[in-house]
Amino acid sequence: MPWILGTQLHPDVGPLARAPSGSRVLLIEAHDFARRKSYHHDKLAIMFSGMRHFRDELEDAGYDVVYLKAPTFSDALAEYFERYPDDELIQMRSPSYNSAMRFDELVEDVGGQYRSVENELFVGTTTAFDEWANNSDTDPFRHETFYRWMRGKSGVLMNDGDPVGGEWNYDDENRDFPPDDWESPPVYDPEHDELTTETMSWVESTFDTWGDTDSLIWPVTREQALEKLHHFISERIPSFGPYQDAMRREDWAMSHALLGSSINLGLLHPVEVIQEIETAYHNRDDIPLNSVEGVIRQMLGWREFMRHVYRHTMPELGSANQLDAQHDLPSAYWSGETNMACLGETVDDVKQRGYSHHIQRLMVLANFATLWGADPSELNEWFNATYVDAYHWVTTPNVVEMGQYGEGVFATKPYVSSANYIDKMSDYCGECEYYKTKDTGDGACPFNALYWDFLDRNEETLRSNHRMGLMYSHVDNKREDGEMENIRERVSDLREMERAGTL
Ligand SMILES: Cc1cc2nc3c(=O)[nH]c(=O)nc-3n(C[C@H](O)[C@H](O)[C@H](O)COP(=O)(O)OP(=O)(O)OC[C@H]3O[C@@H](n4cnc5c(N)ncnc54)[C@H](O)[C@@H]3O)c2cc1C
Ligand code: SF4
Repeated sequence: MPWILGTQLHPDVGPLARAPSGSRVLLIEAHDFARRKSYHHDKLAIMFSGMRHFRDELEDAGYDVVYLKAPTFSDALAEYFERYPDDELIQMRSPSYNSAMRFDELVEDVGGQYRSVENELFVGTTTAFDEWANNSDTDPFRHETFYRWMRGKSGVLMNDGDPVGGEWNYDDENRDFPPDDWESPPVYDPEHDELTTETMSWVESTFDTWGDTDSLIWPVTREQALEKLHHFISERIPSFGPYQDAMRREDWAMSHALLGSSINLGLLHPVEVIQEIETAYHNRDDIPLNSVEGVIRQMLGWREFMRHVYRHTMPELGSANQLDAQHDLPSAYWSGETNMACLGETVDDVKQRGYSHHIQRLMVLANFATLWGADPSELNEWFNATYVDAYHWVTTPNVVEMGQYGEGVFATKPYVSSANYIDKMSDYCGECEYYKTKDTGDGACPFNALYWDFLDRNEETLRSNHRMGLMYSHVDNKREDGEMENIRERVSDLREMERAGTL
């Protein structure tokens, strides 16, 4: 009997797709996990409402749905096998390490039968990746190598064995900042039904949630998710490429796809998303190649890559901390209260919708946490709780490895920067109470002193990295000029300000 997880809400995939109408299907709505920490309201709302809608759709399609609400999976499984002792549950393997390990045990504990099979909600299979990784003479944990292999294997954006346009990657065309008069395209805002509004109120009154509770911009059904995809393709994709790395005040969505939560819930299959985008590119002449390649690189490349990196490096990656970062995450990540415009605005975005786009995640939130020396697993927990698209399999490689250089599996150096980068790619600094060009003294941008202090305190690990050579020549100059003393003093003031709530 198919057992469908809340992240597998697709009717045409896996054991469910092969079970004829009339078959019994199990869905379990477990609640205790949401009591253990404060999740974003919208994250819980889309998961529970998504499951409830999927239950109704399966019933309409003639399935015999067993929908159990229980404190834990264990309680629900005990109830299920009491009712149907002879059933064998078949489930697509969860991509997250703990749940994949746990389900086997839980079913065994209640004396039931269970089998997990390949998760078909990805583009490639684990077997194909593992065969390629074992037989390949290049490093499978270099994203660009993996991405080219995926393009070649899938034929996506390929022309007679060559990449369309002659280049594999147009990233260098994707770093513009929009002119002042550019208006970002409209965002698709689904109309929610009573089931969703009731679920939203129930989530609000049942759990101690974080973030705004009044509106919900995210799809909860496949129909809404498809509409969001079509809206992205018709309205937003042409400007996705050039402004992919830009950040603007009061422009939370820019031209991003906003599809992560729907793909990660299983409402959309990544293959159908990629195919529709590629077809639109071939049929229309207003979609530039750097936009279409940019978004396909994220879905066919990065998303798949992260899944395999995670599979191959867990459980170690979960607690990796090669820079021995031990500080607590600044309280502004939860409160949003800070004088730093970039951090405050980004946390406000996350509070409102459980979302911020990639560069805010990487170059504001993860960058600041890394410079601060925050423990990677605490930041991982924070992302996991606060984002609508967050699950352990996808946050861990993104946050611990890409964001915080936890292990060095695929990141060749930490993604850290001073205010310089943020100022170049955003309009935050102009409205900030801190001075972007000052390193030390009152009012100096916290990113600057923390950046030099980060390089100084991690010298043993980072200086020998040839990609950090230029940075360390600047550190040497600062030491010669006697500036490091002032930088350390500023960092100590910043830590004091954080404790006092005045950062
Ligand atoms: C610190 C940090 C934390 C992140 N946390 C998450 C997370 O919890 N969940 C999540 O799905 N992604 C995460 N990402 C990756 C990426 O930022 C989001 O997938 C993306 O911002 C989602 O927004 P979007 O749908 O508008 O995507 P777009 O930027 O428009 O990209 C399109 C799609 O590509 C996929 N994608 C792009 N980059 C990645 C990536 N690095 N890893 C996996 N998929 C990717 C997503 O499915 C996304 O919907 C994180 C990245 C960083 C640096
Ligand atoms: S000055 Fe510093 S803190 Fe302020 S917005 Fe710019 S980078 Fe962020």
